Amino acid sequence: MPMVSAICDNCKSSFSSGISIEGSKITLSGNTAGPCPKCGDIGRITEGTFNVIDNNIAKKVKKNNPSVADCNVFLKSILC
Ligand SMILES: [Zn+2]
Repeated sequence: MPMVSAICDNCKSSFSSGISIEGSKITLSGNTAGPCPKCGDIGRITEGTFNVIDNNIAKKVKKNNPSVADCNVFLKSILC
């Protein structure tokens, strides 16, 4: 089962949060995990949506960027 990694607040090392992904997708927000195996502090789980690539890798899904055309329209609406 793929595990989502957490980043330690104190030493910034990453470790397994103990949260496993069931299915192929999970959305996380505001979760903490710990203790950090190096310093014992509490870690933070990266917020976002994760997709399971294979059986043990969970990759964060990037938000869809607006297309260049959409971006130009957006910028014009601000500037004009
Ligand atoms: Zn640490």
